[in-house]
Amino acid sequence: TDSDTADEAVRATCDDASICKRFATSKSYWKDPYIQYFVRQIGYYARVQGVNHLLDTFLRKTSCDCQVVNLGAGLDTTFWRLKDENLLPKKYFEVDFPMIVARKLHNIKTKPPLSKPIIETHSTDSLLIESHSLDSDRYCVVGADLRDLPALEDKLKKFHMSPDLPTLFMAECVLVYMTPEQSSKLVHWVADMFPTAMFVNYEQVNMEDRFGQVMVENLQRRQCNLAGVEVCRSLEIECLEFLDEKELLQQLLQHYCICWASKDRLRLGFSSLRP
Ligand code: SAM
Repeated sequence: TDSDTADEAVRATCDDASICKRFATSKSYWKDPYIQYFVRQIGYYARVQGVNHLLDTFLRKTSCDCQVVNLGAGLDTTFWRLKDENLLPKKYFEVDFPMIVARKLHNIKTKPPLSKPIIETHSTDSLLIESHSLDSDRYCVVGADLRDLPALEDKLKKFHMSPDLPTLFMAECVLVYMTPEQSSKLVHWVADMFPTAMFVNYEQVNMEDRFGQVMVENLQRRQCNLAGVEVCRSLEIECLEFLDEKELLQQLLQHYCICWASKDRLRLGFSSLRP
């Protein structure tokens, strides 16, 4: 009824109030360590619900008989989460600049909670750790520049990446640091080399500037142009947090965009995947 709808609108204002309070505390206007448990943060939510859900669904559809390649992985911890959840692919690869990889490997070597799961999933005593790469049975970290595709391909092949396995590529806040030409070459390289693959891209874009608008258009075009790609979808999520008018405007211009595209030679049913 009309009065139900009206009451629902009134009830919804409690969310707005909490979101405002949460945003204010995140800006240190005052302290409230409990408000975070009542409201979700939309950027984080988009990422966890979007990228992780696509990843987990891909793993389930392939019964984990697949590879995952995290491009520009930085200090991301997805490998450990998948291990905990019993959802590890045959092999999980990460690529980042050699300097970042060196930092990550230092932490892995010196912190048992990080090294233990890698050792546990490795069958032999010897585990290859060089200054800019790590190779174990299930986890591999490669120092490489994503703009140098022949070198990237050589390194991944050296660590036994197999183009015949279904492979999920993920890039979270990474392609924005490359020119559209470089990132489109990267996407084409994936499409040319892997008959069964999915490419998931998550990017935060500011719609205020022309750059942000072009980014969203490019992201969509780039992935939809994939040779042989059957399905390409994207989702833009507006950020809902706000405080005053100025903050509101700033927040509304902040968009999160998830694009995913797939080729499904093995007919595993990726086309129906959505976050
Ligand atoms: N994907 C990670 C995450 O979401 O936590 C890290 C995101 S961080 C904003 C961007 C990462 O991309 C950095 O670790 C950076 O070193 C990496 N990156 C950017 N351009 C790259 C390139 N050309 N080659 C390799 N890594 C690159």
